[in-house]
Amino acid sequence: MALIVQKYGGTSVGSIERIEAVADKVKKARDAGDDIIVVVSAMSGETNRLVSLAHAIQERPNPRELDVLLSTGEQVTIALLSMALEERGCPARSYTGGQVHILTDGAHNKARIQDIDDARVRADLEAGRVVVIAGFQGVDENGNITTLGRGGSDTTAVAMAAALKADECQIFTDVDGVYTTDPRVEPHARRLERITFEEMLEMASLGSKVLQIRAVEFAGKYNVPLRVLSSFEEGEGTLISFEDEGMEEAKISGIAFNRDEAKLTILGVPDQPGVAHKILGPIANANIEVDMIVQNIAEDTTTDFTFTVHRNDYKKALDILRNTAAELKAREVSGDDAIVKISLVGVGMRSHAGIASAMFEALAKEGINIRMISTSEIKISVVVDEKYLELGVRALHEAFGLSE
Ligand code: ADP
Ligand code: ASP
Ligand code: MG
Repeated sequence: MALIVQKYGGTSVGSIERIEAVADKVKKARDAGDDIIVVVSAMSGETNRLVSLAHAIQERPNPRELDVLLSTGEQVTIALLSMALEERGCPARSYTGGQVHILTDGAHNKARIQDIDDARVRADLEAGRVVVIAGFQGVDENGNITTLGRGGSDTTAVAMAAALKADECQIFTDVDGVYTTDPRVEPHARRLERITFEEMLEMASLGSKVLQIRAVEFAGKYNVPLRVLSSFEEGEGTLISFEDEGMEEAKISGIAFNRDEAKLTILGVPDQPGVAHKILGPIANANIEVDMIVQNIAEDTTTDFTFTVHRNDYKKALDILRNTAAELKAREVSGDDAIVKISLVGVGMRSHAGIASAMFEALAKEGINIRMISTSEIKISVVVDEKYLELGVRALHEAFGLSE
């Protein structure tokens, strides 16, 4: 008998019919003899609806109250799913994050799980019940409700699987696995049977929202066998696995992209020690994360400095940079929030030369201008104008032979 954690995302529980279908799937797994813990998201669109309600009242919603609000979405689905299970003669009990003591730090809206007390869940499993847990939420040491950041139900599922040493954590969603790129952008994208943790982590952090990045981190750290599957059809899905399991190493395993990007440039700053710190220090102090950074080689005694931030932070970063520019007597500040980042990911890149130039060639053929480049051992990212996102992703998918 195995212990399985199953997670169902928003679309998978998006209507009463879908919740009924999930109940059928859960019952089937339990009837096969396994112990089942189910983690569910809010019904699709619900979290967005709640966010906009908050914004209708406060421009910057109070983070604590926002968590109280957002956590209600998942509370609806745990109750409905438990009822549907009961209707099928399958004993079940629902719990909010706080009730099963998913203890997090106090960072509202992006809390991290620190500990899970599994006693209550184990007792239910022993009594033959399916345990249904609200994803995306926890409670801090003072009893405040917290949420784990968008897409956080994935992390709840993996954390439950780690805490209970489950045999597998199954992420059921609206696609039947992890693809070479988002199938909504490239219809020829191919499902991967396996992908390494390292690659999945890179894909997630470069914008592939099929798994929340923290869920992948957690699964890697605690050795949780993780699989992405469709809640709509049968199939093997994609197994996230460790590299040394005799995998054939593809040069490129996938293409990730991120639309939430913006870039800022400060032109004509004195080329002196300490300048980078003077520019980025105030940005960091405002809690704005910086991603790519490029500093030009100085032609005279001044240089230009460009960096990217999350699009939500663009206006704030621009204001800060204008102040810095005045202090440093820089020539000009400019910015662009209609840019995106496209990245090639693959552990096989380590042992293959020429990937970057093949990437640049494929983009050039389509007349796509590259604005920034950054590389690491297993990825190459470029920043391009937003209007080229689809064209760029498809051109690279074709150029690297990723299609079926
Ligand atoms: P859920 O609500 O089940 O958590 P998400 O919308 O968070 O579902 O994640 C599933 C979506 O991720 C898919 O519908 C797909 O558009 C998107 N996606 C992005 N990149 C990929 C990829 N490489 N493989 C599969 N899906 C991807
Ligand atoms: N409901 C939350 C969200 O929409 C969490 C999740 O679905 O994983 O982000
Ligand atoms: Mg998700």
